[in-house]
Amino acid sequence: MVSACLLGEACRYDGRSQRSERVLAALEGKAVVPICPEVASGLPIPRPPVDLRGGTGVDVWAGQARAVEREARTDRTEDFQRGARLALDAARRFDVTVALLKEKSPSCGSQRVYESGVLRSGEGITTALLRAEDITVVSDEEL
Ligand code: SF4
Repeated sequence: MVSACLLGEACRYDGRSQRSERVLAALEGKAVVPICPEVASGLPIPRPPVDLRGGTGVDVWAGQARAVEREARTDRTEDFQRGARLALDAARRFDVTVALLKEKSPSCGSQRVYESGVLRSGEGITTALLRAEDITVVSDEEL
């Protein structure tokens, strides 16, 4: 499973992609399930940037942190959790064992995410759910 933005899909919050030639080269010949949890949840492109507040993805699932729009402070936690569950559904359907996801995203980050505007160690909401279900999540920055 791979973050769709890394494959060239213009699904980021700012309407752009994060196409990575390094990722595309590493995936050559492999079966790939593209996923953008935020768009899968029904959020639009573009959409306001969201930060985690009160913790990281693991804390969101524990009910101790939220996903909140940076400017308007609209709470998007349920949208992000819905997207994460859809990613997990797809992973199960296609017997995914490894996910290669975009670093620093509040959904897909696996080593670092923004919390209250500050980059810190931790993982995003989708990554936390996939890892809880024993799916290995690696960062595009690890390639
Ligand atoms: S990082 Fe994840 S949620 Fe964000 S645009 Fe890429 S695939 Fe979608």
